[in-house]
Amino acid sequence: MAKIRYTYNQETCKYEPIIVTPKAFGRKAMRFLSVCFLIGLAGSIYFHFKYPFLDETLQLEENAQLKAEWQVLNRQFTRSAEQLTSLEKNDDHNYRIILDLDPLSPTQREAGVGGREKESAGISYPIIKYVYDKAEKIKNRLDIETQSMQQLKEELQKKQKMWASRPAIQPINNKDLKQLHTIFGMRMHPTLGYIRPHNGLDFTAPMGSPVYATGDAVVMYTGFSTYGNVIYLDHGFGFETRYAHLTRYIVEPGQMIKRGQIIGYVGNTGVSAGPHLHYEVHYKNVPINPINFFQRDLSNKEYEKLIELGSQSTTSLD
Ligand SMILES: [Zn+2]
Repeated sequence: MAKIRYTYNQETCKYEPIIVTPKAFGRKAMRFLSVCFLIGLAGSIYFHFKYPFLDETLQLEENAQLKAEWQVLNRQFTRSAEQLTSLEKNDDHNYRIILDLDPLSPTQREAGVGGREKESAGISYPIIKYVYDKAEKIKNRLDIETQSMQQLKEELQKKQKMWASRPAIQPINNKDLKQLHTIFGMRMHPTLGYIRPHNGLDFTAPMGSPVYATGDAVVMYTGFSTYGNVIYLDHGFGFETRYAHLTRYIVEPGQMIKRGQIIGYVGNTGVSAGPHLHYEVHYKNVPINPINFFQRDLSNKEYEKLIELGSQSTTSLD
């Protein structure tokens, strides 16, 4: 049987039983439940911070690991970008200058850098998007630099071929510099007896002395003319050399020739005042002074000495 509670009524001066209505009971129950809920919530929060759940602990550790790895990755990208910048500077300020190429403009360097940013648009994590965009920019810069290096390689091969082909040595052995008899310019003709242009250099040498190709070339022509036995070499890039008054030649048209290769021998054929080699350099079909094409043979001092010795005679050997 339920226990009955009483309360003292001052008006009637009697103890009367307490009657609990359903509504009052409901209010009491709600207050009790609210207090229990608040106590439970406070306890849960306290224990959550003091003793995190295992899954959450593992997740925190994993996040810390990911953060550390992200930082390593980011630093590596930064270092790669710095190394690439150094390579680009060397390319623009050294390699391209040496090879007579213009440096790439900033516009060319940045070409396509922003072109793939849309691919990262779907990445929701800003921190990942940041690294992704950074990697994309490096990759695009690397593509441009790779193309530049390819261009440098092709230009270098072209220059090497040009340097090998360009006339750059004396056509006979002239170590003491005394073989140069007459230089380029207006000279007295030995048989005609008047002054006229002398389109080459005359080197005196004993009959049969070897004559050397002054650069890599293809033999254009061999034959006989007023210059006696002659050889014409095509060096490409607009250059041609001619060797005249030979006693004989040992090459034939179409043959590939290397610089320093013997192509014939000194003679006295054609209109000639004595055994010598008449040597000409033509650029784009115009005779030019061969004295400027002995870079491989002469120092500056020797060059000046050669000109002095070659200027002493005013008569060509033709
Ligand atoms: Zn001559």
